[in-house]
Amino acid sequence: MIVDSHCHLDRLDFDKLGLSLEEVLHNARQKQVEHFLCVSVTLEQFPAMLEKISRFDDVSASCGVHPLDQKDKLDIDKLRNLANNEKVVAIGETGLDYYYSKETHQVQQESFAGHIEVANQLQKPLIIHTRDAKSDTIDIMKAHNAQNCGGVLHCFTEDWPMAKQALDLGFYISISGIVTFKNARALQDVVKQIPMDRLLIETDSPYLAPVPHRGKTNQPAYVQDVAYFIADLKGVSYKELAQQTSNNFYSLFNLVNRQHGSTT
Ligand SMILES: [Zn+2]
Ligand SMILES: [Zn+2]
Repeated sequence: MIVDSHCHLDRLDFDKLGLSLEEVLHNARQKQVEHFLCVSVTLEQFPAMLEKISRFDDVSASCGVHPLDQKDKLDIDKLRNLANNEKVVAIGETGLDYYYSKETHQVQQESFAGHIEVANQLQKPLIIHTRDAKSDTIDIMKAHNAQNCGGVLHCFTEDWPMAKQALDLGFYISISGIVTFKNARALQDVVKQIPMDRLLIETDSPYLAPVPHRGKTNQPAYVQDVAYFIADLKGVSYKELAQQTSNNFYSLFNLVNRQHGSTT
């Protein structure tokens, strides 16, 4: 069984897919996906997102503001209140994305720091998005004691030195379907070095469909393709990769009662 550690179930284009949310989850379960973490990108849309997934026991939620969606100052009280809900197992996604304009860097940094503060207060791990902002990401994590709440660098596409610094802070690294792309050689080399007990897998659906589904709307069922690819890359069986990444997920997000034994 596997877990999709990061998907945006409220952002799927159900008309284009010709499927309901129920059917999307069903298809994923048919592909051995047994748990889903539905990730929030704005506080405004969070209540509606929570409402959509609330009836599914195998779907957990995060609460936070994506760095590219952080238009003004973070409302830290609102984040704390919304995140203080038993369905919410993580804070984020937050982080830094410097790929686009420079103007938002300061707003992103303050928001990121605020998320870390709330994560430490509520003792829920962070989901960190980081792109083209390696040193600032690590600096802010250290300055605000992100190692106390822990978390994951999701959809990781940066280099090994950055992965190593995050691992040294006790963080996990989550890999999306980007690793299956032809031009992802550098990332594939990084994935080979990530210890098995710190690795998570995700789709980040509806974005970034893995090979062989490129160009289609991504969905949680495709996390199986990511799992097969990474198992091959790391020279382990699919079963071993599935079990280890699932157990990593449950232990990081304190869903330990769902962990599987190590029987093969
Ligand atoms: Zn992200
Ligand atoms: Zn995301």
